[in-house]
Amino acid sequence: MHDIVIRGGLVVDGTGAPAFEGDVAIENGKLVAVGGSVGAGREEIDARDRIVTPGWVDIHSHYDGQVTWDPYVSPSGFHGVTTTVMGNCGVGFAPARPDSHDHLINVMEGVEDIPGTALHEGMRWGWESFPQYLDVLEAMPRVMDIAAQVPHSAVRDYVMGDRGATRAAANADHVEAMARIVEQALRAGAIGFSTSRTKLHLAADGSAVAGSFADSTELLAIGHAMARAGHGVFQMVSDLVDPEAEFAWMEQLARQHGVPVHYILVQFEEQPDKWRQLLAMTRRAAEGGADITALVGCRPVGMLINLESRYHPFSEHPSYRAIAHLPLEARIEALRQPALRARLLAEETTSTNRFWRTRMAHFHNMFQLGDPPDYEPPPERSVEAIARASGRRPEEIVLDILTGQGGRDWLYFPFINYADRSLQPLYDMMRHPHTLLSLADGGAHCGLICDASAPSFLLSHWARDRRRGPLLGLEEAVALQSSRGAAAYGLVDRGRLTAGLRADVNVIDFNKLRLEPPRWAHDLPAQGRRLLQHATGYDATIAAGVVTWRHGEATGALPGRLIRAGRDAA
Ligand SMILES: [Zn+2]
Repeated sequence: MHDIVIRGGLVVDGTGAPAFEGDVAIENGKLVAVGGSVGAGREEIDARDRIVTPGWVDIHSHYDGQVTWDPYVSPSGFHGVTTTVMGNCGVGFAPARPDSHDHLINVMEGVEDIPGTALHEGMRWGWESFPQYLDVLEAMPRVMDIAAQVPHSAVRDYVMGDRGATRAAANADHVEAMARIVEQALRAGAIGFSTSRTKLHLAADGSAVAGSFADSTELLAIGHAMARAGHGVFQMVSDLVDPEAEFAWMEQLARQHGVPVHYILVQFEEQPDKWRQLLAMTRRAAEGGADITALVGCRPVGMLINLESRYHPFSEHPSYRAIAHLPLEARIEALRQPALRARLLAEETTSTNRFWRTRMAHFHNMFQLGDPPDYEPPPERSVEAIARASGRRPEEIVLDILTGQGGRDWLYFPFINYADRSLQPLYDMMRHPHTLLSLADGGAHCGLICDASAPSFLLSHWARDRRRGPLLGLEEAVALQSSRGAAAYGLVDRGRLTAGLRADVNVIDFNKLRLEPPRWAHDLPAQGRRLLQHATGYDATIAAGVVTWRHGEATGALPGRLIRAGRDAA
């Protein structure tokens, strides 16, 4: 008798091979049979008209603090994720001097928009070194497996204190100390190292992220330490202002030390074709023996704005300020009154924040998200285009969206990966041989962006609903979200439905898989606020052979553990 049998589904095994019909049997947390028909199970899951896939492996999240209080690792947990890799983009909470907690929270709040109050109240700390942090993580069960990367900013802050975030170069002692910490972290089970080299990432107090200006001597010494530890991915977010110079050290690091280098690749409005150049360089580097991979997304990075947001197109208008204190329904009621509307339309924002002033007037790249949410809206659906076609002002269209659907709809600002006003560049990026699907950013950007639903979007949009260009094959989409990421991080025990591997499985009603619109939730510690998004269509998610979610509800089972890279997975 098997523990669980998933009966009669369409098995999409994560390898990219053609799907096939058959049963899946699970015993003692492992897959024991995949395909054909198997004997009875103590629990049987009817998977007729369902697809059966590996649990999703999400290689880009920022749950470094949240995993110390939230065993459900939400919202990624809602979307079939059974493994998440945290500690991306150079930010995190270990190592941590006892007097640097506030600083590390300030960095995380600024870079990833996670409320500092929630982190202050939610995290109990209890570590100084990275190995101690892993011990704390290991002591707590969760709904999914987690893996941690050691973040450069914390390492540099630990070694250099306040000077870490300046342009000052690390001296030889600093470099040696940092390399030692990284090696120790990897030997204790960190799955990688990450760093930030972008001017877009700033701490909440406006200071740079430590490591942003690190020179190649420092980065190569860290690469050498990673080679000594014998495993680990070098993950990076960088503006790549001077791609030749950056690729020079990236290639040296990858070739000399055998360390895989992953960097984030997106399409910016200002340089809409630079990604092609970077991918060409990546291909050349890879052909030259340097293991360099571009991390790409599957949808725009889009800001979600409504009347409950900190900033919206009218938030700093005097007439809006006068009603800003009212409850949402009363505000909507007020904003429907012709007199107030006329006043608002006659006023200008009083905001002195340049970023928000310009953003909030980008009507050509501002859309109604709608329900179901449309993440690939055509140009003729922009606020500007609708205004032009209807002879109205864009601000009027914005007001209609903000006050429609009880204030629950969203203005959608796809400010990254949408310069072509289509997702075709992402199609090309995802299918490139030297890229990996990443950037779901779970746990981060609580007040503006909610992309942790990316796995559900990938399947529903890219493998089923897309009308504005080609689809991805279902097998291909599943592989992108499972085996590919697992393999890149050396997680050889998961990411595929193959007998002998960990039983991480999703049973999905593919025809009904659907994203719900994002919504506000006040469920972080200290009533911290964040955007959440659910999906319908996941019949069951199974982690390590245990059903963790059924039809969107947590079962309460917490089979997830900390992955100690270099020990467990090999
Ligand atoms: Zn990130």
